Amino acid sequence: MERTLAIIKPDAVARRLVGKIIGRIEEAGFRIRAMRRVNLSKGDAEGFYAVHRERPFFASLTDFMSSGPAIVMVLEAPDGIKKWRALMGATDPAVADAGTLRKDFAESIERNATHGSDAPDTAAYEIGYFFAGIDLT
Ligand code: UDP
Ligand code: MG
Repeated sequence: MERTLAIIKPDAVARRLVGKIIGRIEEAGFRIRAMRRVNLSKGDAEGFYAVHRERPFFASLTDFMSSGPAIVMVLEAPDGIKKWRALMGATDPAVADAGTLRKDFAESIERNATHGSDAPDTAAYEIGYFFAGIDLT
């Protein structure tokens, strides 16, 4: 089993897509090991996306991520990191495969409905960012 950090981003929460997205997560066979609703400050979003701080989209991305509530989750499945990224689809919904969450629910490359960790080290950092000290067994 492998854990990953998933976020239902503020665009999808505002559009009341939480239930649909969680339904797709369960249908795909993930276990939800932890879940909560967060209101990220600008600083929280900057810390979470620190690896992107030199990128041209950083200011806009962190404004967006702190614009309203989001749902953060720890998902678990065999090969869970890759499996969750496959269910999400490509970052840009214009090129995301049919049947992926971003194809079905994203509004744009920025407002793209979901987040997923991209590797074991980032998953560990991101899970700790939101669920530090919480017993996930
Ligand atoms: N993003 C953006 N413009 C871009 C690339 C990314 O606004 O050209 C945003 C988008 O919300 C994306 C996030 O920044 O999900 C993090 O980018 P990353 O390349 O890590 O994509 P992801 O891992 O989320 O697919
Ligand atoms: Mg990423």
